[in-house]
Amino acid sequence: MAKIIHDRKRCIRCGACASVCPEMFEMSEKDNMATLKNSKENNGVFELEVDEAGCAEQAASVCPLKIIEIESL
Ligand code: SF4
Repeated sequence: MAKIIHDRKRCIRCGACASVCPEMFEMSEKDNMATLKNSKENNGVFELEVDEAGCAEQAASVCPLKIIEIESL
């Protein structure tokens, strides 16, 4: 199990995460910021628990602001 944490409010809309991991990230049509699909907001960040982090690892490594984190559970 892993928890993906996305500090969405700091997103600069570069699109890198959605490009390497479209299964989990998409760019919002509303505000053009990245959205972690199916996540829930918790204290201002968005979180999603998954069995395997999968391509979220790549998303975390390409994000220029390092606002995507993977926590092992
Ligand atoms: S890679 Fe980071 S800064 Fe770029 S869209 Fe994704 S979350 Fe936002």
